[in-house]
Amino acid sequence: MITEIKAKSILVASKLPDTDFVINAYTGCTFGCSYCYASFMGRFNGKSIDDWGSYVFPKVNLEEVLDGELSKIKDKTKAIFLSSVTDPYQGLETKYQLTKKALELLLKHHWTGEISILTKSPLVTRDIELFKKFPNIEVGLTITSTDDSVSRILEQSAPPASLRLKALKELNQAGIKTYAFIGPLLPHFSATPEKLKDIFDSVWETGTREIYMEHLNLSPYIKVRLFEKLSNVDRAILEKFYEAGTDKYKKELEDVISNLLKSYDFRLRLNEVISHR
Ligand code: SF4
Repeated sequence: MITEIKAKSILVASKLPDTDFVINAYTGCTFGCSYCYASFMGRFNGKSIDDWGSYVFPKVNLEEVLDGELSKIKDKTKAIFLSSVTDPYQGLETKYQLTKKALELLLKHHWTGEISILTKSPLVTRDIELFKKFPNIEVGLTITSTDDSVSRILEQSAPPASLRLKALKELNQAGIKTYAFIGPLLPHFSATPEKLKDIFDSVWETGTREIYMEHLNLSPYIKVRLFEKLSNVDRAILEKFYEAGTDKYKKELEDVISNLLKSYDFRLRLNEVISHR
């Protein structure tokens, strides 16, 4: 269900550790990942957690609102993240081009602060020429597995991981600064480190040298959606998902990661695996 809406604000002050503002051009995300922490967003538009993935509200007045907001900000060196609760390059971006319009406005306002983009979509490569005009921009692709069949279960309608890796390579070849967001970390990596190594190898081959890693967020509202999806997976894997919130499990997985990192020259963003309480 697609419903165009008019937003009161687009540029929102952020509590995330390494950004000052976030821009979300859409409410909702058709990629519908089972582990998505943004599934609560629908409550502002009469949608339930279970509806996540089935609706999008494009903010069609983005240009007018964002232009006004950017005009009022004197300090153009602040960091901006696109996007925190939606995918900025989900399929509807082809039609609405709201992410592209936001970037064009940032250029118009001579933004010099860091612009950080995170997506699961190869559509991001459409804007390579636009990215080249920014003095300080980075583009991240989320990679949770190198196995497209795993992506199909947990990231129902997102582009397969193989296309995301291809997009990373294309961005690197174009000279754009990139990173890979390896998160959420799937719990079975603690028992099968070779699957995590496959991700490291695949990301390394794209030319990306910076990674950002995050543990699975098992807040109660996320668990309900996620575990429904997992009802058909192998029991051994399912048990790992149940363990994923424990400190013991996190420590085991972090040991696997630090051992693996010794064999690569990746820079681990924030020097730690991000964890949720
Ligand atoms: S792509 Fe990102 S925002 Fe969209 S459903 Fe997946 S995790 Fe959530």
